[in-house]
Amino acid sequence: MNLLINVKTWTRGTVYDPGQHFRERFRRQCPCCGYSGHFVSSGKHKIDAFRCPNCESRPRDRQIALMLREANENLSGKTILHFAPEWPLFRALKNEPGYVGGDIIKRPNANAVVDITKIGFPDNHFDVLICNHVLEHVPAETTAMDECLRVLKPDGYALFSVPIARGRATTWDPPPGTPPQEIERICGWDHVRLYGEDFADRLSARGFTVTPVTYPADLREKHALFDEDIFYATKSGAVWKARAEA
Ligand SMILES: [Zn+2]
Repeated sequence: MNLLINVKTWTRGTVYDPGQHFRERFRRQCPCCGYSGHFVSSGKHKIDAFRCPNCESRPRDRQIALMLREANENLSGKTILHFAPEWPLFRALKNEPGYVGGDIIKRPNANAVVDITKIGFPDNHFDVLICNHVLEHVPAETTAMDECLRVLKPDGYALFSVPIARGRATTWDPPPGTPPQEIERICGWDHVRLYGEDFADRLSARGFTVTPVTYPADLREKHALFDEDIFYATKSGAVWKARAEA
């Protein structure tokens, strides 16, 4: 047990939501650190079982860790570009020689400054891209997707996820001139669009071959995940070749 993280997570969760310790709770398992026990609800929204008290993981951190674990993926020796790194995965990977944890500004949980719309690496450089809850913050979405495609190796893969409004067929891009308060009300804090079920189509349109991965309800319960897909994307050879030759 990481005592420092435990005290911090527990205290923060308790300040926001003291009642959580008196509600019925289930034991959960954290695929980031292996902890098993009660998670802590956190933040103003009081989402139950939000953070792991041992490594601070959130649902979005755990869904990526679980995917890598289930795929028995060994990232050692690979070139990895991880956008806006989540703490648990950053801690696990930061000493790998091929790992770039990049954020748009300098942060403690990043070892590089990387702009997803202008990635300072050569074509076909990375084996793995991890882009978890990033694109909803990026205005130039197609440029960002094109850049991800460019730096991904032909036999590499990218993991994308964004919050998706379930049941909404198409993504809402705010028309020019929409007041910022209205965008925030509809899309959420700091989000620039509201994604619908067409997220995979948007990736495909930029040249990725996309496979959505959905966790069954029992796994979501066990690891306290949101009802959210991860999109496993590879480089579509034909589209990339046409673009490179254009
Ligand atoms: Zn954990």
